[in-house]
Amino acid sequence: MKKLGFGTMRLPLLNPEDPASIDHEQFKEMTDLFLERGFVYFDTAYPYHQEHSEEAVREALVKRHPRDSFLLADKMPIIRVTSADDYPRYFEEQLERCGVEYFDYYLLHNMGRDRYENTKKFGGFAFVENLKKEGKIRKFGFSFHDDAETLEMILSEHPEVDFVQLQLNYLDWNSAVAQSGKCYETAVHHGKKVMVMEPVKGGTLAQLPEEAMEVFRAFYKDEPVMPSPASLAIRYAATLPATEIVLSGMSSVSQLEDNTSFMSDFKPLSEKEKKLVNEITGILNRTIKVPCTSCKYCLEECPISVNIPEYFGLLNLHAVTGKKTNMYYQRFSMNHAKASECLKCGKCERICPQHIAIRTYLEEFAKLYE
Ligand code: SF4
Ligand code: SF4
Repeated sequence: MKKLGFGTMRLPLLNPEDPASIDHEQFKEMTDLFLERGFVYFDTAYPYHQEHSEEAVREALVKRHPRDSFLLADKMPIIRVTSADDYPRYFEEQLERCGVEYFDYYLLHNMGRDRYENTKKFGGFAFVENLKKEGKIRKFGFSFHDDAETLEMILSEHPEVDFVQLQLNYLDWNSAVAQSGKCYETAVHHGKKVMVMEPVKGGTLAQLPEEAMEVFRAFYKDEPVMPSPASLAIRYAATLPATEIVLSGMSSVSQLEDNTSFMSDFKPLSEKEKKLVNEITGILNRTIKVPCTSCKYCLEECPISVNIPEYFGLLNLHAVTGKKTNMYYQRFSMNHAKASECLKCGKCERICPQHIAIRTYLEEFAKLYE
């Protein structure tokens, strides 16, 4: 199987302010092109695009292509599970939303220490294992957002898991918070295959600051076609031997064309490219302030809809360039609460997979922009 997977959490939109307004026609075009180029893996989840990603997959992929021509991964929203009865209810709903009779890959979504305790309490692992016995799923895993110690505990207690999905990118490899490297080594130690999410860290590694871009351009100056920074990040993740799939949340035909171009005939990073990655990582670590991936989980939890990811994007931009862009703040806060209106309830921080001190950074942002 080719190592690039289509993550359907950042699909093209008709209205950039409305995550539910998926551009179905463009997604169909992207789906067809992806399959034509020999890629087969699609990844969706219950909450993506305000719960519209699964039905978009049904319309663009399932209804228009033979079931054995693609592999589909979906995820149980364990954060919403409050009793054992919720598992079959969500699963049946997901089959219906996607229009399929089975999933090739099925994951417990967004596993971490707290959610692990809940999943054990309500029998989540046994439920999913049983789905596999019944043939309703083919392979069973979980997506993970916590530290390597927690991953070690879960994999030791649940050797039946087939694979893990990890946030893995070159910037987070040695990060004390995301612990990409340590988590990867833990998965390898347990003999698990790894599905990679966030290989470009929510776009951060696709749009490098100018200082890093200068180094990047100089390195590839003799190439007939200048590669994209995203290609370096995706190839980095795909070069790791235990990586089965690298998911890319593609948002346009052009992004898909770029991603599939270098992953069609995948070449692992050379030793020189690995040194380039180290150099760029050093530059980024000096400049990036908030390790936000724009996953928007916090936005869904926030009772007053503070536009956290966009505000953090502006905070990072200021850290790199020293510039404020008031026009963007006006736009980003138009249908959202301002940073200074934060209630300090902490709901966002409880769900943030990156464990970001959101309230503290919002205060800093408010001082800067308000
Ligand atoms: S702490 Fe502030 S930003 Fe976070 S969920 Fe509460 S109100 Fe929203
Ligand atoms: S602050 Fe955390 S939850 Fe919110 S978008 Fe960023 S990474 Fe995701």
